[in-house]
Amino acid sequence: DVRLRFAPSPTGYLHVGGARTALFNWLLARKQGGTFILRIEDTDVARSTQESVDAILQGMEWLGLDWDEGPFYQSERFPVYREFVERLLAEGKAYRCYCTPEELEARREQAMKEGRKPKYDGTCRELDAQDADRPFVVRFRAPREGVTAFDDLIKGRIAFNNEELDDLIIQRTDGTPTYNFVVVIDDATMGITTVIRGDDHINNTPRQILLYEALGYPVPRFAHVPMILGADKTRLSKRHGATSVMAYRDMGFLPEAMVNYLVRLGWSHGDEEIFSRQDLVEKFTIEAVGKSAGVFNPDKLLWLNHHYIKESSPERLAELLVPFLRERGVDPSAGPNLPLVVKTLQERSRTLVEMADGALFYYRSDVSYDEEAAAKHLVPGTLPLLASLAEKLDACADFSHSGLEAAFKEFIAEKGIKFGQLGPAVRVSLCGGTASPGIYEVVEALGKDETLRRLRRAVA
Ligand code: GLU
Repeated sequence: DVRLRFAPSPTGYLHVGGARTALFNWLLARKQGGTFILRIEDTDVARSTQESVDAILQGMEWLGLDWDEGPFYQSERFPVYREFVERLLAEGKAYRCYCTPEELEARREQAMKEGRKPKYDGTCRELDAQDADRPFVVRFRAPREGVTAFDDLIKGRIAFNNEELDDLIIQRTDGTPTYNFVVVIDDATMGITTVIRGDDHINNTPRQILLYEALGYPVPRFAHVPMILGADKTRLSKRHGATSVMAYRDMGFLPEAMVNYLVRLGWSHGDEEIFSRQDLVEKFTIEAVGKSAGVFNPDKLLWLNHHYIKESSPERLAELLVPFLRERGVDPSAGPNLPLVVKTLQERSRTLVEMADGALFYYRSDVSYDEEAAAKHLVPGTLPLLASLAEKLDACADFSHSGLEAAFKEFIAEKGIKFGQLGPAVRVSLCGGTASPGIYEVVEALGKDETLRRLRRAVA
């Protein structure tokens, strides 16, 4: 049974990089019929907030990354960590260190002066006296020789000389456990078999492996995912645009577009670009994640979003569109049938924001005309045509797309005109401008009453 986890620190929103890590873990769990665990790493009480936890959970839900166990909170597991510290102390695999911060600082400065790499010098490593009254930290007794290596599923073999690793502090003076320690205790006791995380954690891995070994737990496999860069090849940050997953929802992206985009940011499968969730669950492998950093490309995300908007059912899009319309002061129930409106806009909207903006004219009986377009098309030559068209449509019983097409064709034949002499004027009167969805679609969505009202208003 494979067990994977996503272990965010709740110190902000769900970042696109974090979301991608969560997605990779989720995909592998689903592909292998394993278990996906959510663990909130909130031991840094000062920086962790409930707001951030909520934001992370919300982001995961939006992306459809459901978890099988958790969320577990590290802040609720202090007694567990305490027990493991005691165990390591009892087994002599950890020791109390009484060196004061001042002493450590002085030694560090000395080391720097002598051109040595500063690291704990082991003063308390062999102390016999274990005085529990003086302030102390607990340090892990790390081996000083040998090599700690692992075969990263993405990066290949990575080795560290133990000599370079410090005797890690596992418990602070105030009795709280440290980050690298709790991660190991959790991953070990939760039975995690593969750890997929950002490659900013590579340097932690050898220390963590030594802890697994000391505790007698099997070492999981590791996969360190390269970071995400902006177009200028520096680490993706706010300077490059939104980095919060939920900001993309608010900008009108669909979760399936985001998922498809995020997974391709690092993972590839031949030349394919479009992957449904089912495809991904079938095709994803961690080994096919590239070694080098992915560059965030907003245009490609837009392209994917446009694809998924075109593919989605109008009914679903209508539901997703409602909040965007309300935000624009529109009450969608007080207008034409929303799925019909959506249908007219799918081809031309790359985001739900574009769709909502494009839909506004449907809800404005007094739609304001684009000045230039009105001056050009609502002219003495076309106004009588619009008036007769209103009569024609009034008499038309079939307001379906094909019924309307037939009525318009008949009308221009009767009048002996070309469509181009009529179309732009109709568009301006119905939509306010000439850049609009197809006329039949618009008329169908507006319905007879509203269409006639708008045509007559343009003539009046
Ligand atoms: N809490 C860590 C982070 O947010 C993840 C640690 C891990 O995955 O091992 O970066």
